[in-house]
Amino acid sequence: MTRNEKLHEECGVFGIISTKPTAVVPLTASALLALQHRGQESAGIATFVDGTLKTKKGMGLVTDVFSSDYLEFVANAKIAVGHVRYSTTGSCNLENAQPIETVHSKVSLALAHNGNLTNSAQIRRELIQSGMVLHTTNDTEIVNILIVKNMIETGDLESAIVGAMNFIEGAFSIVIATKDKLIAVRDRNGFRPLCMGRLGDSIMFASETCALDALGAEFVRDVAPGEVVSVDLKGNVSSRMLERASKSGLCSFEFIYFARPDSVIDGISVYEARVNMGRALYRQRPTEADYVCGVPDSGMQAAYGYSMESGIPMAPAFVKNKYVGRSFILPDQVKRENAVDVKLNPIKATVEGKRLIIIDDSIVRATTSTRTIKMLRRAGAKEVHMRISAPPFRYECFFGVDIDRRDKLVANKYDVDGICKLIGADSLEYLSLDNLKAISPSTSFCTGCFTGDYPAPVTPTLKNSFDDGISN
Ligand code: AMP
Repeated sequence: MTRNEKLHEECGVFGIISTKPTAVVPLTASALLALQHRGQESAGIATFVDGTLKTKKGMGLVTDVFSSDYLEFVANAKIAVGHVRYSTTGSCNLENAQPIETVHSKVSLALAHNGNLTNSAQIRRELIQSGMVLHTTNDTEIVNILIVKNMIETGDLESAIVGAMNFIEGAFSIVIATKDKLIAVRDRNGFRPLCMGRLGDSIMFASETCALDALGAEFVRDVAPGEVVSVDLKGNVSSRMLERASKSGLCSFEFIYFARPDSVIDGISVYEARVNMGRALYRQRPTEADYVCGVPDSGMQAAYGYSMESGIPMAPAFVKNKYVGRSFILPDQVKRENAVDVKLNPIKATVEGKRLIIIDDSIVRATTSTRTIKMLRRAGAKEVHMRISAPPFRYECFFGVDIDRRDKLVANKYDVDGICKLIGADSLEYLSLDNLKAISPSTSFCTGCFTGDYPAPVTPTLKNSFDDGISN
């Protein structure tokens, strides 16, 4: 199996259970809309209507997939799970859309997953050898099969789920709906976020707190790394821990780029983290300038922090076209470069004749920074000082973030001076690893994409599977 066929995703998940029939499906659609930044390729919701599993999935945005007719059709139910999916190049099809449903005489379930399993190839081989027929190349199907297999053996749903989760490795924040239970699981390292909320008679789980806010729900707590939380139709909540507790490893990229700034993950405000990264960037290398400018959207909060720390005013250097999709996953360099040109346009009135501090969250292949600096020069910028609110990306991510293999990462080919020359900046500074970790000194983050040191095992087989078939 190539990496493109594997689950290698930054997705959003949501699950809700209510003691009374209520608008769980429309609420799930609203929550998924709040999580849309975590995936724009496909969306899906699964619910139980009169004990029967009903799933609606489609390609595109939440608003494209769920019509008002559909939301009215399932206006009242007690349980639902939903998913928005982000794809890597080449894996964009309906087969990979989630939730993944399984209907079996022992149990019917729908499962939504955010993360990346690291031992799926081995499990897949073992399942096939034991006579199982697999219908997709999707990792999530494996989890469903493991649960059903355990159900046949034990007859107890929670043990079946815990058994399956004890078997899988890697990054997983998962929500599972059965006809009478909602179960939320977070992997042993807590790579991906997962929180719990409450609204009236409903209990819910979401990738980010911004989804709870969108529903007017109250935040209850984060699901702990390695925890399995189960909620039944009476609203009873129980919790168990997975075997083999591991070193915690919350993904630092959630704070750098991925999560919404109004979310709070494991007690850390994403907004405050980004502002502090910007402040630290100024302290690392104080630089005189006329304006501090963020590259929209994810450079904006760090730019604000830099501006506050330095006293240099913040000004908008770019207009971002809201209607352009993501340039990052386009299949070739020319397309990516053109997409950046259409997406961002400099505001001459801010830029002309000015010394600018430009802040972006990351440099991966250097497409965005090279193009943006060229645009700023064309618009008459006098000096462009690039500041990046992350350390240099040097290594692959095996735990669910779409970062290219290491030989495509610009920081693997050049040192900081070389990258500065390549992108055409007057100076370049990356956030130091220590200052990244300082956003929460009491939290143990995964910083593997910067250091090559991961909190969970990365086997040679896993590394090889990453090297196969990459086209982006
Ligand atoms: P590049 O243009 O290849 O250097 O990529 C850096 C730009 O892409 C930055 O502006 C980031 O905001 C964005 N970016 C970085 N990593 C990702 C990712 N995993 N998914 C989507 N966008 C990303």
